[in-house]
Parts: sequence; C-alpha cells; structure tokens
Amino acid sequence: MSEPTTKIDNARYIVTMDPSRRIIADGSIVIIGSRISQVGKADELANVSADTVIDAAGMVVTPGFVNGHMHISYAHAVRGLFPDHLGNAYLPNVFLLQGAMTEEEEYSTSLLAITELLKYGTTTFIDPGTTTYLDACLDAYRIAGCRIIVGRNVQDQPNPLNLPVLDTDEAIRMSEEAVDRYNGALDGMVSVWTMPFTAEFCSPQLLEATHAIAESRNTRTTLHYNNGARWIQRCADDHGCSPTEYLDRLGALTPRMTLSHCLGISEDEARLISERDAAVAMCPTAAVKGGAGMTQSALLPELLEYGARVGLGTDAGNNSNLLETLRSVYLAAVLYKDGRRDVHAIPAETALELGTIRGAAALGMDDIIGSLEPGKAADLVLFDTRRSEWAALHNPVNSLVYNADGRSVDTVIVNGRVVVRQSRPLFVDEPELVADVQQKGNALIQRVGVDFSTPWPVV
Ligand SMILES: [Zn+2]
Repeated sequence: MSEPTTKIDNARYIVTMDPSRRIIADGSIVIIGSRISQVGKADELANVSADTVIDAAGMVVTPGFVNGHMHISYAHAVRGLFPDHLGNAYLPNVFLLQGAMTEEEEYSTSLLAITELLKYGTTTFIDPGTTTYLDACLDAYRIAGCRIIVGRNVQDQPNPLNLPVLDTDEAIRMSEEAVDRYNGALDGMVSVWTMPFTAEFCSPQLLEATHAIAESRNTRTTLHYNNGARWIQRCADDHGCSPTEYLDRLGALTPRMTLSHCLGISEDEARLISERDAAVAMCPTAAVKGGAGMTQSALLPELLEYGARVGLGTDAGNNSNLLETLRSVYLAAVLYKDGRRDVHAIPAETALELGTIRGAAALGMDDIIGSLEPGKAADLVLFDTRRSEWAALHNPVNSLVYNADGRSVDTVIVNGRVVVRQSRPLFVDEPELVADVQQKGNALIQRVGVDFSTPWPVV
C-alpha cells in the first residue's frame, strides 16, 4: 500500500527556513507519509494531486516550532497558584506538589500542556525529566502525536528544593533504564535523554555517568544551567574554576549537551560553550518573570556571535505561566534591543531561527526538523493571516515575530499527521480536558496543603 499524500496548496507565504532562507509567495507543499516531498510555487506544483488537499489561501506556513525547555507533567494543574514574589520559596513548593501527583493527574496534566503547545504551533518539545509515570504519559504522547524528548530527572546531593536525594548508583540505573526502555518509542517520535537536574545537585560521578550513558546510547543530555552566586562561588572554592569549566573537566561539555536557561555565565564561559559545540536552550519568558536580568545574565548575542547552537524554551507553565514558543521568540527579539540599547541586537530573522532551525540544531535534530525542505519531517504550522493582528502583511517574518502569536494558528501537522485544524485539537475534547485538570488541580492542592491566598478578595 502506498503512503497517504497531503498537499498544502496555495499558501500566501511559505517561510521555509531552508539554507538560503527562501520565503515562497503563493507556494505549495507536498507531503508523502510523514515526510515533505516537494516545496515550491503553487503553479509549478499545480499538477501534483494528493489524497488530502488543505487549502492554504491566506495562510503563512512555517516549520513547527521547537521548545527546548519546559515542563508539561505538573504545572498546568496548579498554574497561576504562586504569587510573583516567592523567590527561593517557589521551587520547593513546586516540587512538593509535583512529588504528590498521581499517575492519572500527571497523564491529564501532560495531555493538556501538549494540547496547548500544539494548538499554538509548537511541535517538538523537551520535558526535562519531571515526568514520573512515563508509561501512562506515553499514551498522551501517542494520542496527541507530538514529537517529544523526555527522561528521568536525577540528583544525588542534598538540595533545598524538595527533590529526592537518590543514591548515585540508583540515579545512574534510572537514567539508563529510561533511555533503554523508551528512546525511539512511538516510531521515533519519543526521544529519551539523560537529565541530571543541575550540576549543583549532582555529584561529579553522576554527571560523568549520565553523559557517558548519552554517549553510549547515541542520545543527548540536558540540565538546568541557571548559575547563581552560591554555585559560582562553590565552583571557585572547590574546583578553582567556573561552573562551565567544571562541566568541561568532567567531560560533560560536549556536542551532546543542551544547557537549559544558561543564566549567570561569563563571556569566557560563553566562548567555551561555543568552542565545545555544546548547545543552549534559553527561556526568556521564565527569565523575565523571575527577574533574572536576562539581558545581563544571559549572553545570547555573545553566544550567537561565537557560533554556539542556541534555541529557545519557555520553562514550565508556572515559572513563565505559558508554553508558547512564539512568545519566547518575541522576547528574544525585543529584550536585547531594549536592555543593550541596540536596535541591531537579535534581528527578527534571528529570533525566528531560534524558534525553528537553530532550536532544532540545539537539540541535535536539525537534520529532521526545523525547516520546510524535501526529505524533512512534515512538521508545519499554518497561520491564518485573515485576522486583524496580521494586517497589513508586507513582511511575514516581522509579522510573525512582532505582531502575530499562537492565536492565529489554524492548522498544525506533525510527522505528516494533522493534529490541529481550524484552531481545534483533533485528538481530544479540549473543554472536557480543561475541566478535568481543574478538578485534579483543586484536589492536589487540597491534598498537599500548598495554597496561597489571592491578594484581592474572591467573594
Ligand atoms: Zn526547568
């Protein structure tokens, strides 16, 4: 039996993100099975027929967006619970709630987060280790049809975050088991990486071992890299070097590493990250909400200048309150212009690259996703430009980065499968799921006893 074919026909613009960054006006895309087979002018492809034809008149087509760091397994059930000013008291509360979640709660919460991600155009994303019930959640990934990277969060050092302190051997075994069991699941739509939580809360042995596992299984590794004064000082005192040099000495700063957040590094460290071809997933949405001083503490322009592979994340639906990659794209484009008083900083084109092709490269996946080219996976998004926020349209990149957002996403295709059509997810009853997660969130908060009153009276 031959593979099903789909044609995206007559798009207003196709923003290909291919090596020459072509933007095709009046374009069409042909998909065979899970792969793109042709991308070109609509009139040149007029004779190509397909089993399914999607009329893309008035649409801007982009590659599916790539979110290199966010947590889908717990945050949605308790989203918006925490006041802004918690500071260091924030994460211990988060992990208290997360640690108490049941399998059913995690499943529904994950599915809701995935629904939000797909609806607003993010087709590939990393949940960096906070999913406990991978077996159950695999079902959510299958239903939704997303491209996802998961793993086991491990740490073996005492920490103030309420994260369980694992025995080192046990942490290594858990990391190995997750990779061996789930990497490549669902026809390759699920990748599993090793995911030590931070360098600060993991022993050198665990950091070395988790990197070695990634190497031996030909997969990757990621950790939270949000270096505060305490950790920077400890590296200086105990190892006589910076946190990045410390990782390098352990053999963990390699092309297989994706550093999440990447806050609190020096220019020398940015150079070292680039030299080692390690990758970075920055989360502007979380940084600005957390008061991180992003334009000073996150050296995005410098990392790009030195040639590092950089992509974007959003972090969890609690520390940023959203998962929309396009908002991170917007922030990357505007923050540095403001903070550095330089309109040349992070042009709109670069920002869009960060959310697509550069983001894919930061996950070691740019041979599969991140651009619309023959041979690549058919992960793409159709934005409906017949909406007020898209008018008037003269430069699709400027419009995408500065004035549009996920609200205008009409259709989303992942690996050749249509998962969102006319802005509605096809794999789930969204209002029912929202109500279910609200109920589960209420129950979880009550059970754990973590709650915060609202500053304004709810009467
Ligand atoms: Zn995180």
